[in-house]
Amino acid sequence: MFRIGQEEIKAVERVINSKELFKINSGTLQETYHCEKEFREKFNISHAVLMTSGNAALMSALAGMGIGPGDEVIVPAYTYIATAISVVSVGAIPIIAEIDETLMLDPKDVEQKITERTKAIIPVHMMGYPCNMDGIMKVAKKHNLKVLEDACQAVGGSFRGKPLGTFGDAGAFSFNFYKIITAGEGGALLTNDKTIFEKGLIYHDSSAVAYFGNQMEDFSEEPFCGYEFRTNEITAAILREQLKRLDGIVSDLRKNKQRLMDALSPYFKFIPSNDKEGDCGMTLTLQFDSAEEAQAFRDKNVGVSIPAFTGKHVYNNWTPILHKRGAAHPLMDPFKMAANRVPDYTEDMCQKSIDILLTCAHLSINPDWTEEQVAERAKQLIDALK
Ligand SMILES: *Cc1c(COP(=O)(O)O)cnc(C)c1O
Repeated sequence: MFRIGQEEIKAVERVINSKELFKINSGTLQETYHCEKEFREKFNISHAVLMTSGNAALMSALAGMGIGPGDEVIVPAYTYIATAISVVSVGAIPIIAEIDETLMLDPKDVEQKITERTKAIIPVHMMGYPCNMDGIMKVAKKHNLKVLEDACQAVGGSFRGKPLGTFGDAGAFSFNFYKIITAGEGGALLTNDKTIFEKGLIYHDSSAVAYFGNQMEDFSEEPFCGYEFRTNEITAAILREQLKRLDGIVSDLRKNKQRLMDALSPYFKFIPSNDKEGDCGMTLTLQFDSAEEAQAFRDKNVGVSIPAFTGKHVYNNWTPILHKRGAAHPLMDPFKMAANRVPDYTEDMCQKSIDILLTCAHLSINPDWTEEQVAERAKQLIDALK
């Protein structure tokens, strides 16, 4: 969360005064309807569906692509565990691929991991950094694979001028508290594909879309049993205000990141970026020559973290995946389904990724730092290095 204030308070007040808190209403406000329209316009996409979480958006997208038991989906070794769980949640098997020195999915290793079962790739734009979408899309086209962009941490970023989340067949945003814009919790599915939209919409709220209003009026898809990831008018009203703040947040993040890089560049190296202009600017990642140097710098306690040790963002910490516990009920567990081929997940299966993550240190950028505060932060880091 970066910025929130009076505008969001007024938006919530407006919804509460209307007494129309449910998503599908015939009333005056229709916050969700307007919010989805504003997302479509902002990101130049045909369909946007607001949901309860980024994970819900990933699951609905995969379901919309028709992915399930028997299928493999390639995910990066460095991403939040939810990316891999979303694959398991639809009955498929996540195949873990290496990252490269940009810390994003390595298109070369993706190609290595493709089998006759592979159906999709999920590139993840981690910490606001864009993936190499040229490389990923090229591999996907060559092997006829779907692409689902996990842009949960990169709302507002771009690659070669095109918004992240709009390259592949579908994209997922998260609006949980830790993301660039937030409503506490929330997510969105973005797609230009009518089938993914229709199936994704049914999947995200199968009990309501079929019954309320005319949401399925010109649908080709028949209703099926799915889940309940429906949003509400308060979340949508907050997100409409957050969306107005997005450009300002990202441009101030970029400005402060650049200032900090300028001050640090005589002393530190940074990781390479797939697109410096499209980077959201929320993270500056220092590159050290060895894991020992990175650790020694972290131990100075100047507010940097080693990405190898963040908890649930590296595959070797994804306990339910590594232990193949895929569902509450054994018959619904993709790791036990005859249709699936279950890989060996070992803690060192993507050692190259771990080695890269051990040599880096992340530091967070604040869009509201003044020039003096950036200079102070730079001095603190330079002093710690000496
Ligand atoms: C936050 C996040 C998610 C999940 O989003 P929720 O809204 O918390 O469900 C998925 N992938 C990545 C990379 C994330 O950072």
